Parts: sequence; structure tokens; C-alpha cells
Amino acid sequence: MQNLPKNLRTRIAPTPSGFLHIGNAFSFILTWLIARKTKGHLHLRIDDSDSTRTRLEYLEDIFENLNWLGLDYDSGAKNLTDFQQNYSQKDQFLFYQKLLNELIKKNQIYACNCSRSKIKKSSLSGKYLGFCQNRNLDFNSENVAWRIRIPTQKWISVSELFEIGNPTKKVLLSEITDDFVVRRKDKIPAYQIISLAEDMKENINFVVRGKDLEDSTIRQLFLAETLNLPHFQKALFWHHPLILDQKNEKLAKSKGAVSLQQMQKKGQNSSEIYQLVAKYLGISVSENVTLSELLEKFNLSESEAHFMEKFHLIK
Ligand SMILES: [Zn+2]
Repeated sequence: MQNLPKNLRTRIAPTPSGFLHIGNAFSFILTWLIARKTKGHLHLRIDDSDSTRTRLEYLEDIFENLNWLGLDYDSGAKNLTDFQQNYSQKDQFLFYQKLLNELIKKNQIYACNCSRSKIKKSSLSGKYLGFCQNRNLDFNSENVAWRIRIPTQKWISVSELFEIGNPTKKVLLSEITDDFVVRRKDKIPAYQIISLAEDMKENINFVVRGKDLEDSTIRQLFLAETLNLPHFQKALFWHHPLILDQKNEKLAKSKGAVSLQQMQKKGQNSSEIYQLVAKYLGISVSENVTLSELLEKFNLSESEAHFMEKFHLIK
């Protein structure tokens, strides 16, 4: 296991495009446990940049459920009004655009007007093959996405909390991604840019996220390198295995996974979620376990040993 950063700064980053479900709670609790155990700083960031998907009830749901789960945090919006007045990412587009301008200046991005169906037809993998790379389309014309050029032989280093025997994993970028979109056709900066910009703003040095976001991490590390943001490049990551549903499928909001709201309505208690986390971490707890009891018993090195066994990681 790698050492956690001194003066750890981490965040939880829900997206208000659906009701929070057990998978979100799980990831947030893991983050909270590490932040509190190390006396680090925990920031709440809400990714509401995509106004086509954001809904007020989902925003309310975030605050209600963080409260239900007992998860406190050190910075970020205290409630819905505070969020709307001071923290909405929709007010930050100029800040994100600065990073995009920097990429334009460095000649790292280009405009692309290919439709989704055209891209689908042109490659079996569905990957974008760089059709617009040298077309010099105008960045400011309507209906163009901005894409970043991915070099063919570029290796990206990722510092993983539990990368066994190899503290820094190296990944060949072109195997992970095509020339990905950094600004969408609707002119909204892409998630990769926003996430990086927000983490940069908060000096985040430790990120807990599910394994499904590992490829996003690689993309963001490449952006950080391109934009010369060494702080984020040095961040430590924990890409935890995902909690699966009874059919062994990933819990996703879109598939109608059990929401925390539904659990509350059924009269279920948050200790059921703490128990699930405890089981995952290899901690034995009572049925009515509280969050503070979980925090008291949580020990990262002991949990690491448990992971080795459970997820068949080889030492
Ligand atoms: Zn194109």
C-alpha cells in the first residue's frame, strides 16, 4: 500500500442526474472514512454542469442523503440554496474555458463535426479515428465538438493506493482512449475538463472512485500533463471494485438500482449501508453499527490484507 498524502485533500462528487444509490453511498463512505481517519480535508463537489440532466429533486436528494448517512464535510455547499448561490458549476464556465483556451494555444485540440452515427459506421470499435484532425474546422462554428489529439506512444503513470509491488502503474494512453471530447457540441465543457479543473481548484491530492472511472483518471492525468498541472499528476487514486447487484451487474442509476430514498421510504436504516461497507473492508460489526463505530474500527492496512484475499490480488 502506498502512503497516503500528508495534508490529505479529497472530495466526494455526486452528479444530480438521478437519485443517489447504494453504490454512491459506498464510495462516499470510503472517502469519508479515509478523510476522517487521516484528519484530512473533505470537499463536497456537485457536478451540475449538464443542465439537460440536472433536476432540482436530485440536488435536494444529495443533501438529504449525505445527512441521512451522517457524512459531514469541510468545504462545499452546505445546502441547496448555498449551492445555487455559490457553487453551481454553471457559473464556472469561464474558468473551464481558460483550460480549453490553453489547449488551443498549445495546438492540442481541434474541432470535429462528425456525427455519432458517422463515427459508429467508420470504425468497428466505435472509436473515433481522427477524421477531423487536419481539417482545421473553426472552433467557433456551430455544432462542433472539440477533441484532444492522443499521441500514439504516450505512457501515463497512475499512483494507485493498492497497486501491489508496483507503486506506479503505467498505461499506454492510446489503448485507453481515442481523441476524446473536451468540449461538447452544446458548448458545455466535457466532464474530464470540469473534473480536472475542480480538483485543481481544491488542491485535491487523493481521489476515491469506482473502477469504472479508471479510464477517466487516465484521460484527466493526460490533460493535467498537457496543461502542466503537476499537483494533480501526483495525486493518489483508489479505484475500488464496484458493488454489484444481485444479478452481478454494476449498480447504475439508469438501471433503476435501489436508491437511498427508496431505502428510507421502506424504513431501512443507514446501518445497513455501514454493514455493507464493513463487510467489504473486512471489519466485523454489530447489526446496529453506527458510522462512528465503523470509523473507530477502520484500519486501511488490515483492509488491504482483506482485499488481497477477496479480490484475488496477488502480492
Ligand atoms: Zn470529426
